[in-house]
Amino acid sequence: MKPTITIIGAGAVGCLTALTFAKHGWNVTLIDKNRLGGEASWAGGGILFPLLPWNYPDEINDFAFAGASRYAALCDELREATGIDPEYNVCGMRIFPEFDARAPAWCAARGIPAELHNETLFLPQVAQARNPRLLAALKARLLALGVTLHEHTELLPLQNEAGRITAWQSKDGRSFGADIYVLAAGAWSAPLLGKSAAAIPVKPMRGQMLLYKLSSPAFTEILYREDFYLVPRRDGHVLAGSTIEDVGYDKSATPEAAANLARKAAALHPALKNAPILQHWSGLRPGSPGNIPLINRHAGFDNLYLNTGHFRYGVTMAPVSAERVFGMVTTAG
Ligand SMILES: Cc1cc2nc3c(=O)[nH]c(=O)nc-3n(C[C@H](O)[C@H](O)[C@H](O)COP(=O)(O)OP(=O)(O)OC[C@H]3O[C@@H](n4cnc5c(N)ncnc54)[C@H](O)[C@@H]3O)c2cc1C
Repeated sequence: MKPTITIIGAGAVGCLTALTFAKHGWNVTLIDKNRLGGEASWAGGGILFPLLPWNYPDEINDFAFAGASRYAALCDELREATGIDPEYNVCGMRIFPEFDARAPAWCAARGIPAELHNETLFLPQVAQARNPRLLAALKARLLALGVTLHEHTELLPLQNEAGRITAWQSKDGRSFGADIYVLAAGAWSAPLLGKSAAAIPVKPMRGQMLLYKLSSPAFTEILYREDFYLVPRRDGHVLAGSTIEDVGYDKSATPEAAANLARKAAALHPALKNAPILQHWSGLRPGSPGNIPLINRHAGFDNLYLNTGHFRYGVTMAPVSAERVFGMVTTAG
């Protein structure tokens, strides 16, 4: 009989985990309290790069670069299998002045192409994917591979003291059994472990974003200045983000943030000065100390694995994070 796995949370991390196990012949159940990909993974910019890598330790960069390196093949596979194009695009990123003076040497030492032009630093290999399309393609692919998807199914915090989980209860009274469980509930992961399990340091960190639409694309590169970026999609949509706010589970999109993001957007590219703002939203990142994701077997439960806390780079890291969980599960004693 095929081994069974239940994954809690159908964001990018849960979906890629489901894809990895499904491709290896596991019987996969994927559960989300809302719709698949409706939270942080939908809200993000889709930049497949740790924005200013020279500010991070090797541990994070190596993991993010490994994740990013999976995307070309992953998006080809998804497009061919589902007909939905995640719009993987090696568009490059241009960093405007005030970048760290160490950056060019750091890139050279890491073998990352970097070009200095008129006081800007251009990183030609930075890529992006279009989050809503990536998630739609993942959903179609998972269903085609036979993954059982339960949307609008909220799991309750674990009640078990420790040991082995035999069933996880949902709010609507169902019980989900499995050989292995993976907690991939993003910003909601910590409360799901209940009161008796060892706590994990994952907490929501709000990020707000604006969406513009230009009648024709005015620029093709990701533009970055002082922790603010513009991400141009191929069809003239432009994302402007983002904020990093420690406000708990409050998902409001505030007028102050919108005004601030719009001011920065107009300053970074004149085409956005009078462009209409189509949408303004927020998402809750799974914040973790030092941006280091928690990918390990839970200390209190033999058959529970954590795949959470990816903070600012969860979309980038998700493919390799899924591989790491798969490796742990299949080599565990
Ligand atoms: C504004 C913004 C910009 C970003 N830009 C980028 C970027 O450019 N590049 C990048 O790599 N990352 C970016 N990120 C970060 C990235 O989006 C996250 O790290 C990533 O989405 C985390 O994925 P996840 O699957 O863990 O979480 P989520 O996508 O939040 O998924 C968790 C899922 O768990 C479900 N869930 C929660 N509780 C329960 C429950 N009780 N029962 C069942 N299901 C439950 C939720 O409904 C949700 O769908 C950005 C984030 C934001 C907010």
